[in-house]
Amino acid sequence: MPTYVCGRCGNKFTQEELELIPSIMCPYCGYRIVLKARPQVVKRVKAI
Ligand SMILES: [Zn+2]
Repeated sequence: MPTYVCGRCGNKFTQEELELIPSIMCPYCGYRIVLKARPQVVKRVKAI
């Protein structure tokens, strides 16, 4: 399950993929700003 998103190319990758490279950066484009992807939480609002 992808937990990180690149701030530039938007590719998603996991913690394991991030650990394969020596520094925190996108494994696809090398961009150094990665964002934590939020888990998809579906909120249900009860309709009255
Ligand atoms: Zn990237």
